[in-house]
Amino acid sequence: MRVLLVEDDSMIAQGLETALRQEGYAVDWMRDGRSAAAALGTTGFDLVLLDLGLPERDGLEVLRELRRRGDATPVIILTARDDIRDRVRGLDAGADDYIVKPFDLDEVSARMRSVLRRVAGRGDPCIEHRGIRLDPVTHAVEHQGTAVPLSAHEYAVLEALLQRPGAVLSRAQLEDRLYGWSEPVESNAVEVYVHALRRKLGADAIRTLRGVGYFIPK
Ligand code: CA
Repeated sequence: MRVLLVEDDSMIAQGLETALRQEGYAVDWMRDGRSAAAALGTTGFDLVLLDLGLPERDGLEVLRELRRRGDATPVIILTARDDIRDRVRGLDAGADDYIVKPFDLDEVSARMRSVLRRVAGRGDPCIEHRGIRLDPVTHAVEHQGTAVPLSAHEYAVLEALLQRPGAVLSRAQLEDRLYGWSEPVESNAVEVYVHALRRKLGADAIRTLRGVGYFIPK
């Protein structure tokens, strides 16, 4: 999962960035509205955490422009406790949810999961497919009923592939899901994670389409 975090308060942003990375999200952090709009115009994100009071361009403006383009990327706005008007305006402008500052990091990740679940149209948060069961809330993975311990990166690769069985994801697309822009991409990392996943889930769990990418059969 790749998250765009737009927040000009460094302390809040760094705390969030660290916590989300520990949960296995790839996080890109933008400090102003103009950079955020530029990032949203060029890169696909799974979710946006958007502060409203931003330098250069207001968060609401960034959100409205995104929706005008027909981009339905889920957006959670970050607002001040006393600013009910901001929350209403944010929701009316197309935000999926809001979080009131100061917030608890557990609440942030719970709301992110809830929004992502809603967007995926699933009531049950677990994904089950071909004997693999993945719980995005706990990050627990089972294969044929047996718990399979995965690293955060292995989990991220599996989750990306399981979200759309049959769809081929290229190495670059998988790297996008694993790393933010500021993190160095280790060469062959995707191959290493796929290899580890095959070892743990069966050689057939993930297929290679030579020269194109990887997929999980439908
Ligand atoms: Ca702010």
